[in-house]
Amino acid sequence: MIALNLKPILFLSLLLLGLLIVGAVTAVSRYRRQKQTGLAVITSANLRQQLEAAPFGLLIFDHKQTLLYQNQAANRLLTGEPLAVLLQDVAQADGRTTADGRTMAHTRTLTLPEEQTLSWWLCPLENGALVWVEDLSAQRRLEKSTQLFLNSLSHELRTPLTAVLAHIELLRAPDLPDAIRENSLNQIHQETNRMARLVQDLLTLSRLETAGPLAARPIDLALLVESVVSDFILIAEEKEMLVSLQVESALPPVLADPDRLRQVFINVLDNAVKYGRAADKITIQLTHTPPHVSVLIQDSGPGIPAHHLPQIASPLYRARTDVPGSGLGLAIAAEIVRQHGGDLQISSSTEGETGTAVTFRLPTQMGE
Ligand code: ADP
Repeated sequence: MIALNLKPILFLSLLLLGLLIVGAVTAVSRYRRQKQTGLAVITSANLRQQLEAAPFGLLIFDHKQTLLYQNQAANRLLTGEPLAVLLQDVAQADGRTTADGRTMAHTRTLTLPEEQTLSWWLCPLENGALVWVEDLSAQRRLEKSTQLFLNSLSHELRTPLTAVLAHIELLRAPDLPDAIRENSLNQIHQETNRMARLVQDLLTLSRLETAGPLAARPIDLALLVESVVSDFILIAEEKEMLVSLQVESALPPVLADPDRLRQVFINVLDNAVKYGRAADKITIQLTHTPPHVSVLIQDSGPGIPAHHLPQIASPLYRARTDVPGSGLGLAIAAEIVRQHGGDLQISSSTEGETGTAVTFRLPTQMGE
């Protein structure tokens, strides 16, 4: 018979059981702690990955207001003053409950210098707090520019409307001399034309912004520009202005939507002629700068004062009001160039003979 010594086996079994129980208790209590703060939910690798890439900030605090988790957006958005204000909110939110014991969420919108606006929703949990942060800066900027646009639009429409109403009143007068009647009718005609042009340009801009993808195809840019220039030659000659087109030899075709691109040249040339003076020159240069074709439209006109330049292509922005216009020509041109992947640049000088230069680049076929 083999004599079994059970003592060491029993001792080892008890030790193993003890270790198992301690391990299980630790795991359960850690799980409970995480569950109480909501952290257990994001231990999933996939969810954590999604949250790290989320466009909103997410933070989780424990009951001692210690930060347990923050995603990348929260890390980026909350520094300096916003972080200090948020930590104060978290401290004050601790234990805030309604009469029936439910936790009370708290929201705050913070407007910071440099047009930054942050908003957060803070929800106290049983054992900590959850914070959701959103960056509202772009939305606020859009609201502000829409407001400015509507203000300018009301102003642009009110001026001709007031003139039209005044002339209609005048026309009611009995025994009005023919010359005055004729003048009033002319003024009404001019002002209604101005409003019709403004509405037409607004429609063009709005259609462009909502239009589908470009109908881009390889086109001969020199031919397109020649045909636009020929439409302006007579008006330019009437003003004794000189228009010249310089095309680099063997210019490759550009990938563009010809109808939309034509509008860019019309708008820019129209300005050069409209604001130009007798004997001023307009030069259009097309050069191959692989993988683009670069366009320069330079005039020797009166130029645009430097303080207007940063906003000159904003819708309805006008540096001169003594010449008829809608303030939408450059905005339309800039939008079309943007749709072709380019950027319309405007530089200008009111001194010397350099005048205004408009430049942009267009992609060539197959990136030649
Ligand atoms: P507008 O209908 O007023 O011409 P644009 O958007 O085409 O509107 O131009 C905006 C402003 O830029 C104009 O009001 C004008 O003051 C200025 N501008 C544009 N092009 C020229 C130019 N070639 N020479 C002088 N001023 C110009």
